[in-house]
Amino acid sequence: MTERWHPRLLTEEELLRFMSRITIVRHGRWLCWEWQGKKDRYGYGRFWMDGQWRSAHRIAYVCLRVFVTLPSGKSRRRMIPAQLPDADHRCCNSSCVRPSHLKAVTNAENQRLRGERARQYRERRYA
Ligand SMILES: [Zn+2]
Repeated sequence: MTERWHPRLLTEEELLRFMSRITIVRHGRWLCWEWQGKKDRYGYGRFWMDGQWRSAHRIAYVCLRVFVTLPSGKSRRRMIPAQLPDADHRCCNSSCVRPSHLKAVTNAENQRLRGERARQYRERRYA
């Protein structure tokens, strides 16, 4: 059995390694941080951390962002969740790791969005 991994902020060395894998590219109306490192067959970036390949965009969503802005306009140090949440790409670029392009979703929601995008893509192709 492997021990459960708890997300944490990246160390300086990890941050440098993470950022060195990113290129800024235009993707439609979005300016994406596109992952240039290892990717899975769906185009999602993979990042080696604590002895395992992990989802680069989910790492970016949780482990890069230290502060959140509250509705009052103030910012505070954010809590790191115990698990990496599923994160949907609002920019529809699966290689993107820009935190502002990601939105935490439930697994079911993620599946639904993925199906919907695949359908839209097919419709556009055969229209
Ligand atoms: Zn993006």
